[in-house]
Amino acid sequence: MALLPVPEALETILNRSHPIETEIISIHDALGRVLADDVRSQLTQPPFAASAMDGYAVRFDDIGGPLTLIDESQAGKSFDGSLSNGEALRIFTGAPVPVGADTVIMQENTSFEGNQVTINECRAKGINIRKIGEDFKKDDILLKKGVKITARHIAVIAAGNVEKICVYRKPKVAILSTGDELLDVGSEISPDKIVNSNVPLFMALIKENGGIPVNIGTARDTLDDVKAKISKVKDVDIFVSIGGVSVGDYDIIKDVLKDAGLKVDFWKVAMQPGKPIVYGDFKGIHYFGMPGNPSSAYICFVNFMLPAMNKMQGLGEYGYPISHAILDHDIKEGSGRMNFMRAIYTENQDGIKTVSANFSQSSALLKTMSDANCLLIRDVKALPAKAGELVKIVLI
Ligand code: AMP
Ligand code: MG
Repeated sequence: MALLPVPEALETILNRSHPIETEIISIHDALGRVLADDVRSQLTQPPFAASAMDGYAVRFDDIGGPLTLIDESQAGKSFDGSLSNGEALRIFTGAPVPVGADTVIMQENTSFEGNQVTINECRAKGINIRKIGEDFKKDDILLKKGVKITARHIAVIAAGNVEKICVYRKPKVAILSTGDELLDVGSEISPDKIVNSNVPLFMALIKENGGIPVNIGTARDTLDDVKAKISKVKDVDIFVSIGGVSVGDYDIIKDVLKDAGLKVDFWKVAMQPGKPIVYGDFKGIHYFGMPGNPSSAYICFVNFMLPAMNKMQGLGEYGYPISHAILDHDIKEGSGRMNFMRAIYTENQDGIKTVSANFSQSSALLKTMSDANCLLIRDVKALPAKAGELVKIVLI
């Protein structure tokens, strides 16, 4: 069977992935969520002309002579009256500028004696006043639908006095690992076992990318146990299994799932690592069958499951950012499969990146996957690359 090219596999997945339902949440819970609606301000900011300095509110035309100090305006406690000819008002940063005043002189540019203020320096009329609505106005769009909310976004939403926002629901993802050799981290280790690292990896990847992981557990490599675990997959948007999708005698999950209703869209993609990946529809749930080697599973996540999760959350960008870097060493021609090499880039003072993937690319290795900060992409039919050439990298 011919291997499906990576772009076609991705297209199949994206065609089937759509933004999920929305929900209303407090801005205090909004970090990392994706807006399902524009956010409009409930008020004008600043709501009044405010002083930008500690100093004196004056009339610009008056500043030639000494001015009489009449009162003060404090942040949160405005001065009720207005300013007349020859008068100055003590004012502090954030305090309302009174009617009649048109300029604020910073304290450092004044001298004060008795109740008389002399202005020693003033650049121009109107300085040091924050105008009404200078930041934004009531009903202005503060943030557009599709934005992933950061701390800075939360500040502007709060300033607009918007307490609740509409976001896409977090996708729920069931994770099932398979393998008689797997023990949970912290277990007593026996000689023929290894620690399950893919479940912690996927729990973290799902959380990091806005999802809610649901760990179904680890199935032993028996039909009965795999069946029993699969029956627990309910009320989720995505189901990801790890391991058991290759051609070994104990790679049974695909067949068990098919008996339980899985419709396979594809099995085996022209990529390295990650070739045996399965994708399909399991009772309306997106199913990803990841190969068990940690780097294979991770690279399948980056290429396929992350874009699905991002699209389901209403994001416009589906994958990690792509960049370019100068290759540090020669690489042989493409292998006939799209190759995602674990790689490390460094950046010089001018922002020029140099990348190296000059170490074992075995998909079983965890340490090199952990050390990597990018994936070097080699196309299916890439020509041999020489040190000094520019190559494409995914910033992971
Ligand atoms: P499989 O895809 O089941 O043939 O597994 C391929 C390799 O990945 C084997 O060496 C497994 O022991 C290993 N493997 C499978 N699942 C996990 C897991 N959850 N954590 C760590 N390694 C795994
Ligand atoms: Mg296995």
